[in-house]
Amino acid sequence: MTQTAALGLFGGTFDPIHAAHLRMAQAFRQELRLAEVRLIPAGQPYHRQHGTHASPQQRLEMAQLAIDGQPGLTVDPREVQRNKPAYTIDTLQEIRAEIGPDPALWWLIGGDSLASLHTWRRWEQLFELANIAVALRPGFDAARLPAAVRTQWQARQVTDFSNGAPSGTMRPLALPPLDVSATEIRHRLHSGASVEHLLCAPVLDYIRQHRLYL
Ligand code: ATP
Repeated sequence: MTQTAALGLFGGTFDPIHAAHLRMAQAFRQELRLAEVRLIPAGQPYHRQHGTHASPQQRLEMAQLAIDGQPGLTVDPREVQRNKPAYTIDTLQEIRAEIGPDPALWWLIGGDSLASLHTWRRWEQLFELANIAVALRPGFDAARLPAAVRTQWQARQVTDFSNGAPSGTMRPLALPPLDVSATEIRHRLHSGASVEHLLCAPVLDYIRQHRLYL
């Protein structure tokens, strides 16, 4: 019997997509032996108070530029095209319906997103649809997670992933943390500081051409 390939999903604002995102996506792909990791730029992130800085279409185009030459990474435009608030639960429901109930589905988030998971729409249902992998950012401390999230984080971690559960488990990624954020990059671009080491060249060219984050 052939096992259906597990699929990795990585949603983010990607405003702009940066070196840590790409490194996380590749570590995720390699550690979990995923044939494909789909980057899913958020359309209208409902949880961002001040909106984004580049348009959804521009964030999508930057993600498409960034994956060039990155094995196994693809970009899924569905949230940008949805043209209404982007909820992870809706995206997962759609993708699960497309791939069927059996393949393992993994959703990748950073440790700071884990700390606010309980604010996501219908968050406890996420576990019925996908497993969650967490890239721990510098300074992550499980003891400081909100109680409801900490309970899930402790209960859902398993040591043996060989049964390839379609959904319901959680695991940390082993990659060393990289202290880079889009916020810092936007500040650096705004103040004229160098960002070459934080972004890939085609994305930086795009930012300059479109005069973003000035
Ligand atoms: P911002 O600074 O604008 O909040 P960001 O750098 O966190 O942006 P997002 O697009 O919001 O980028 O990130 C997408 C996902 O990647 C989130 O789950 C976030 O936690 C995670 N992430 C981003 N950078 C890192 C990093 N350096 N280490 C671990 N996780 C990260």
